[in-house]
Amino acid sequence: MPRAAPLLGCIADDFTGATDLANMLVRGGMRTVQTIGVPRIPDAIDADALIVALKSRTIDAAEAVAQALAALAWLRAQGCRQFFFKYCSTFDSTGAGNIGPVTEALLDALKDLPGSDFTIACPAFPENGRTLYCGHLFVGDVLLNESGMQNHPLTPMTDPNLMRVLQKQTHSKIGLVRHDMVAKGPAAVRAAFDTLRAEHVRIAIADAVSNADLYTLGEACSELALITGGSGVALGLPASFRSTGRLAQAEPVRIEPIDGPAVVLAGSASRATSAQVAAWRASRPSFRIDPLAIARGEAVVEQAVSFAHGHFSGARPQPVLIYATTTPEAVKAAQRELGVARAGQLVEEALADVARELHALGVRKFVVAGGETSGAVVQALGVQALRIGAQIDPGVPATVSTGERPLALALKSGNFGAADFFSKALGYLDEMRP
Ligand code: ADP
Repeated sequence: MPRAAPLLGCIADDFTGATDLANMLVRGGMRTVQTIGVPRIPDAIDADALIVALKSRTIDAAEAVAQALAALAWLRAQGCRQFFFKYCSTFDSTGAGNIGPVTEALLDALKDLPGSDFTIACPAFPENGRTLYCGHLFVGDVLLNESGMQNHPLTPMTDPNLMRVLQKQTHSKIGLVRHDMVAKGPAAVRAAFDTLRAEHVRIAIADAVSNADLYTLGEACSELALITGGSGVALGLPASFRSTGRLAQAEPVRIEPIDGPAVVLAGSASRATSAQVAAWRASRPSFRIDPLAIARGEAVVEQAVSFAHGHFSGARPQPVLIYATTTPEAVKAAQRELGVARAGQLVEEALADVARELHALGVRKFVVAGGETSGAVVQALGVQALRIGAQIDPGVPATVSTGERPLALALKSGNFGAADFFSKALGYLDEMRP
């Protein structure tokens, strides 16, 4: 059943977190489009959920607030009526933010909507071992501050008590929806919300230790203008939209097949990508990009493009892999000679140029390995938004860009996917299986 306006408008504080959330909503049967930053798309997008992927987790709090408000304005212009602020399931933030300040700013900006006086904060994701009990976040069997997150280079998490963590970041009063309330079901949780409101609590940490708790929270939050949390709490939202008749029965996401040749681009040196490159190279054509050769002024991009073109325009067209992936020693050697930033930049720019030129030659299917690399390629291809399709491997869906001549894309962060990921992803992009 096509609908005029999306049900849910989401703002995610990083790109892979946005994809994770998108994957969750698609699994629940919501047609989902993810944008890269705040897009310049004035036309209405036909989807049940929209997700704006920001890169705001560790930037200055004021800038994170500004970006979140710009995203909210675009989502409201698209007609969304309920909103979701997505952050990491380990509550990655500092004493200065950004979870608290962004949540407060979003509530302020939504005050014309009913249910905007109060929200929950729930990073729990039991399937991934993140559980919340009495406001304390566990990772597996240990508290957050013993999980290794206390040593995170950018957002060290040294306090497992999320009420205390969030209180440091906001002026609003923080409260708790304790697990015994959640265990009683949605009506008890709604009653707990009312009690907290009467105590002037504006944001409540919500306990959850199981998927059943997330479904309860999903239903209990149906009247809130804003929900905040990890992708786990989104598990219960499609069911809640469905039970109130706002979402049609789950339909498989259908994406039109896209013709034309395909290419695999790998700019990640992570372990999983190295295994994927090795598996591909055992039997399929590949071309290596070396940052030192680029720095010497060799025509690496032209060589890579003509290698790919030769393979897909020949009598037996076949996709190729263009990769910079190499051993940790070789990466270090390139970094010693060129500097870390320049070595990375040369590789990213080269792969982005290869993508742009191959696109001009008719390539419309791209598999890309590497988080930063994916960002560079998507930018080079002028992609603003992605319609999310079926999951290829955990956390990596097949996607199709929106717009006039859509492209099929599988974008994975370096350490995702099994060894056969590249071939498997091409299979999905060729068929665009629902
Ligand atoms: P991941 O998701 O694995 O972190 P990214 O694409 O985010 O992958 O980051 C990998 C970085 O390593 C990129 O900046 C890329 O340009 C750089 N890189 C890839 N291959 C090489 C190489 N051979 N030498 C130096 N830097 C490289």
